[in-house]
Amino acid sequence: MADLYTVTDLSLSLADMTRKPLFGTAPRLEILKGLNFAIPKGEVIGIVGGSGSGKSTLGRALVRLLQPSGGRISFDGTDITHLSDADLRPLRRRFQMIFQDPMSSLNPRHRVGTIIAAPLHLHGFDGIPARINRALDHVGLPKTFATRYPHELSGGQRQRVGIARAIALEPDFILADEIVSGLDVSSQAQVLNLLEGLVRDLGLTLAFISHDLSVVRRLCARVMVLQQGRIVENRPTAELFAAPEADYTRTLLEAIPLPDPAQVWV
Ligand code: ADP
Ligand code: MG
Repeated sequence: MADLYTVTDLSLSLADMTRKPLFGTAPRLEILKGLNFAIPKGEVIGIVGGSGSGKSTLGRALVRLLQPSGGRISFDGTDITHLSDADLRPLRRRFQMIFQDPMSSLNPRHRVGTIIAAPLHLHGFDGIPARINRALDHVGLPKTFATRYPHELSGGQRQRVGIARAIALEPDFILADEIVSGLDVSSQAQVLNLLEGLVRDLGLTLAFISHDLSVVRRLCARVMVLQQGRIVENRPTAELFAAPEADYTRTLLEAIPLPDPAQVWV
């Protein structure tokens, strides 16, 4: 299988604003340190690690919301490491990000249909009403939801709208950053089932960031473990869970709560 992403020696540093002197520039903080990995087309990869390990920063680099300070990110054969905004524009449709808190990423003053339509307009799609209906259908929401406002929806429904907005663009890649963390267990299960189906039916490649290893175990074929901006393991899920190599991974695994018998995966 061809690789959708190839990441070589990726490093990324950010200005540490907490230590910025009154005059002069802030010191740089190295967040990602020499990452090497590939994401094959059609794969679901889990990115796990403790809080502050660099998961979100890596995610933002993959969809080029952040610019790497070193190394190279290649997306479907194109080096996107240092592409300008103008050169990124035609590619942006192809890698989408879904955020943890849909309430803050969905404009509260816009109806669901308008929210899904906005990026479609931006990327010059035609037949937008039909695309909105199809996207809602894909995420299991009735067409009538197009006229609702975000505050009229449940957390799980809002997360579905976020997913609908992303898949309406027919992307190749979706980065989901802690998207079920704020949901109750049954909504979590529904959103995960939905994602599983979409990956299968739409041929998506998915990177799923989570601190919850039980969720990752169920959804992801491969797991990458980050610790302090470095990859400590990157292996098929079953292998990693059966015999974690790094002490750090073992610590993460030990922190998984026992399965909740009330938790039903359908
Ligand atoms: P995770 O998603 O794994 O919790 P993040 O990628 O959000 O981790 O953060 C990794 C590290 O980068 C943390 O130490 C965090 O404090 C730091 N960091 C994140 N964003 C910024 C920023 N804008 N400026 C400076 N440091 C940041
Ligand atoms: Mg994060």
